[in-house]
Amino acid sequence: MTDDGSTRRVPWNKLKERLRAAGFHPSRRLGQNFLLDENLTRAMVRDAGIAAGDFVLEIGPGLGFLTLPLLDVGAHVLAVEIDGRLLELLRETVQEEGRPDGGTFDSLHLDCLAGKHDLAPEVLQALPKEGPWHLVSNLPYSVSAPVLAVLAGLEHPPASMSVLVQLEVAERICAAPCSGAWGPISAKLQASYEVERGRTVGPGMFWPRPKVDSGIAHLRRLPEAPSRAAWHHFSAMVSALFSRRRQGLGRVWGDMLGDRDLARQILEELGIDPKTRAESLPMSQLNSLAERPEWTA
Ligand code: SAM
Repeated sequence: MTDDGSTRRVPWNKLKERLRAAGFHPSRRLGQNFLLDENLTRAMVRDAGIAAGDFVLEIGPGLGFLTLPLLDVGAHVLAVEIDGRLLELLRETVQEEGRPDGGTFDSLHLDCLAGKHDLAPEVLQALPKEGPWHLVSNLPYSVSAPVLAVLAGLEHPPASMSVLVQLEVAERICAAPCSGAWGPISAKLQASYEVERGRTVGPGMFWPRPKVDSGIAHLRRLPEAPSRAAWHHFSAMVSALFSRRRQGLGRVWGDMLGDRDLARQILEELGIDPKTRAESLPMSQLNSLAERPEWTA
């Protein structure tokens, strides 16, 4: 039995047999560390607040340890998996183990990203064009930050994102402004989402064991989130400022404007010392800089 009283449903022994028969070896490049603890995956779905009828994008469903709990609460799951062997197994598992009165399951055999800055067009096409939708995923570590940034910048972005990622990434997503973990991904996501650190997950919960700890982050879209155009403008400015994060803003912002005197004047107007580094600016000052018409991406 799982913590919430439901029966353990992912047929791990059967899956192991099938994986062995298929000669499957997990790929480190694809971040194939499968979360085997169903109490944890069920808690993740619960903490994400997913309810019957919700549309959920799951990137990297792997063997389905998170997919089945999502289906159990009645979600409409769109699973995007790059590894065709895993997706075949997952489709069988959903057919065999999915509850008849559970949610619905659709899947795409694809790389979720097209390049670093775009979602695969097939995924975009399959996402809802209106109404709230959600991301719940144990994300492949190599693409977790780009995936979150790409989704945050969509025309119709997710209302919430609950992700299990490398602990360091979870800490960066949820970092307090100006703290040691604060960086471009923190600023870009926190411009549009309220963030909350969830559980920390040790390597022993996965097969195979990763070398590092993992952590859950929950992001909920702010009612006053910027428009898509404003977010992309802000995001481009943050990338430019943080690409020289150890230098003073007088120089960095000056080079971005092509005029260091003008940059100093603007910084003075905003009450920012030109020696300040981008990483020491609170969100309000980053927003004030992005709102200046003198800089165009
Ligand atoms: N969700 C599963 C779990 O919790 O056990 C598996 C998570 S595992 C960390 C990451 C999964 O993402 C793997 O199944 C891997 O094949 C898949 N994957 C890796 N890169 C991907 C990409 N670019 N697009 C879609 N899936 C990807």
